[in-house]
Amino acid sequence: MMKIPASHPRYKSLLYRHRVVDGFRKGFVADAGLIAHGRGEAFDYLIGEKSVKEAIIAQRAAVAAIHLSKNPVISVNGNTAALVPGEVVSLAEVCKAGIEVNLFYRTVKRENLIADILKKHGASEVLGIGDHMKMIQGIESERARADLKGIWSADLVLVPLEDGDRTEALRKMDKCVISIDLNPLSRTSQHATIPIVDNVVRVIPNMIEFAREMSNWGKDRLEETVYGFDKENNLETMISLMREGL
Ligand code: ATP
Repeated sequence: MMKIPASHPRYKSLLYRHRVVDGFRKGFVADAGLIAHGRGEAFDYLIGEKSVKEAIIAQRAAVAAIHLSKNPVISVNGNTAALVPGEVVSLAEVCKAGIEVNLFYRTVKRENLIADILKKHGASEVLGIGDHMKMIQGIESERARADLKGIWSADLVLVPLEDGDRTEALRKMDKCVISIDLNPLSRTSQHATIPIVDNVVRVIPNMIEFAREMSNWGKDRLEETVYGFDKENNLETMISLMREGL
């Protein structure tokens, strides 16, 4: 991987960009994943590349919802595996959630490479690999695949960097969908139960911290945090902030 001097004014942004490029070179990030990352960078620029108040509110509501759920699953694609593999494994551990590989541009090679990365970072089980799969209705792409033990039976799915069709389909299956997508206008953000408009590289570490903090909260307090979340208002504020940023 290319060495970026730590003194570079855009060190962090370049570091993450190179992680995605490196993932592409190793064969587990799709070429379209590079474009998706660039689009994310542009939105991130407009919010000052930081987790703004509304994003934190959404992340806290999301963690409370995960703690209330019975069978939460974190869906992982190539970009997420390139950017925050260890953090995803830690979050799954703290939240007792499953981890499932799910790819738009699926190949068995990419699937296995991602599973290996997650296992190298400590995941004991990675779902979404093998033949115990069902196809979710209403999705044209390979993303329709869902593990019977994972997303198929989950009551809550955390979907970083998702596409709108799958978010809609998962909602139709009555699952609580938490999205992480820097674009507040995407169909994913619009359809998710709790959309988080923030960079996945900040969101997952934040969520680990909140999950630890809320681990001994009672049901009432968790429910209050979830039901207090106003999705429309949150997305509107994110759009206004981006307009101001511009
Ligand atoms: P939709 O189908 O939901 O309307 P789309 O098809 O326009 O979305 P995709 O190309 O599937 O979008 O998705 C990539 C999305 O992921 C983009 O909206 C982009 O802003 C977002 N994204 C990319 N990198 C990150 C990141 N690091 N953190 C959060 N979001 C990101």
